[in-house]
Amino acid sequence: MLKKFIGYYRPHVGLFAADMVCALLIAAVDLLFPMVSRYAMQELLPHNSYLTFFAVMGALVAAYLLRAGFQYFVGYYGHLLGVRMEADMRGELFAHLQTLPFKFYDKNRTGHLMSRVVNDLFEVVELAHHGPEDVFISLVTLLGAFVILLTIEWKLALMIFALVPVVILFTIYRRKQMNAASRKVKERTAGINADIESSISGVRVAKAFGNESYEMEKFNEGNDRYRVAKKGFYRQMGIFQAGMDFFTSLMNVAVIAFGGLMIMLEGLSTIDLLTFSLYVGTFLQPIRRLSNFVEQYTVGMAGFVRFQELLAVKSDITDAPGAQALRNVRGDVRMEHVTFSYDEGVSVLRDVSLHVRAGQTAALVGPSGGGKSTLCHLIPRFYEADSGDILIDGQNIRTLTLASLRANVGIVQQDVWLFAGTVMENIRYGRITATDDEVVEAAKKAEIHEDILTMPNGYQTYVGERGIMLSGGQKQRISIARLFLKNPPILILDEATSALDTVTEARIQSAFDKLSAGRTTLVIAHRLSTIRGADEILYIDGQGIRESGTHDELMAKNGLYAQLYRVQFGGEK
Ligand code: ADP
Repeated sequence: MLKKFIGYYRPHVGLFAADMVCALLIAAVDLLFPMVSRYAMQELLPHNSYLTFFAVMGALVAAYLLRAGFQYFVGYYGHLLGVRMEADMRGELFAHLQTLPFKFYDKNRTGHLMSRVVNDLFEVVELAHHGPEDVFISLVTLLGAFVILLTIEWKLALMIFALVPVVILFTIYRRKQMNAASRKVKERTAGINADIESSISGVRVAKAFGNESYEMEKFNEGNDRYRVAKKGFYRQMGIFQAGMDFFTSLMNVAVIAFGGLMIMLEGLSTIDLLTFSLYVGTFLQPIRRLSNFVEQYTVGMAGFVRFQELLAVKSDITDAPGAQALRNVRGDVRMEHVTFSYDEGVSVLRDVSLHVRAGQTAALVGPSGGGKSTLCHLIPRFYEADSGDILIDGQNIRTLTLASLRANVGIVQQDVWLFAGTVMENIRYGRITATDDEVVEAAKKAEIHEDILTMPNGYQTYVGERGIMLSGGQKQRISIARLFLKNPPILILDEATSALDTVTEARIQSAFDKLSAGRTTLVIAHRLSTIRGADEILYIDGQGIRESGTHDELMAKNGLYAQLYRVQFGGEK
């Protein structure tokens, strides 16, 4: 894992090296100051060498100016390094998410995935740019201070450094407590976010049922839990800060106490004592940094592991080696003994075979949940059949490239998905490169042009999240317009189940008819009136295809289809 993590530094190795050099120089200046002060007090002051003394002080100011420059570099470019790595990782993750199949999204919640792409990576990147810097600066300063102090007075140095592990252990322990408390706060925050998201997107339902106070109660519970968690966190923070301050003071007292003892017993000079005291100030900061690193490492690595886990999820629907592009499609669609289930043991399609000749229209009818949509989703390989073959113009779809397969199959789903944006952008989604004129042309064919002209900003009207500002019929026709732009030879039309008024229904039907002219079409029909002219009608239920034939044939047969038809239309034929 660590090796993989380090791999992300590779493209930015120059910046990283510069960052480390600056970190080293910062540590060097920190180590220099007490030494120089000692030199000044020991060598220059007793001889009244004013000039040299002030020259040295001037040099110190210059050193601190340089240090400020290095600090700026580390603060700015160090973070920049982090941001670049974050962008790399997020880009990689997003690209990966695009390759994952329907099945993956059936099982994973959107909010959860979002938090992985956004929050987890944030912590990974904090580690990525603070981690090496913190460890480097701290170790150099601590070791440097130790070595210097050893040369001045080794006994005193050992005494003081005996305290360092105690301080480190204390900070690590308290940090852990603080970290646990902060994790709780994060969880509760996520809970609140989820509550707010769900309540706000469901606000129309809440109002319709007059359940505002129920929503409020639900929210208050989460809000209280958050408050309690935050209280716990601040308690831990209070203990940590008080403890750190205590140890700072303790170190200072220890230096004077042990140092005083050495002065009395061994004749240590007061200047050396002062130098020791200055070094204590220098290495408390690295201790804080080190303990900070320990925490960051745990959290960041956990985030990195989750990131890698997500990257490791491989799509089982990919181009086979040597896959061919589907070209010059006539549109002959054949299914041979196809069996499929979403979850093992619960079969949805069993041994289904069908043949739709190029340019013909086949209608799928049957009870809801019978597997009509599922069957259609197998053709563009949204899901993979467990066994059996699907052939287009005689070519097995498993031997074709996914991109070319999907480019040749167009689908109008019941739930039309519109992206937050304008009507123009949403239609153009059918073919991103289409010109404005082509979009308008497609809208005309889909019988939505006039509706769009009556919208406040015409084609530039914002449709709202998921197209909330449009009617169901309008959304359907927008998705038909998309397909006029895409112009695929094979069509799958999932009729809207929701009741549409007769005018809208007629317009959608006329748009559907125009669209399917000259294309192989599979219609999932809910209103049987619309499919009387279909070349073939297939009756599907949980057991597979039960009947097939034209409307007249099936009526004459007086089986399942005829029964369904009579339920919809009473006795008439
Ligand atoms: P129809 O289109 O005929 O109404 P579907 O193909 O939508 O039927 O559904 C067939 C069966 O598969 C139903 O029992 C349904 O609950 C189940 N199903 C549909 N989609 C999924 C899915 N993504 N994951 C698991 N089961 C599903």
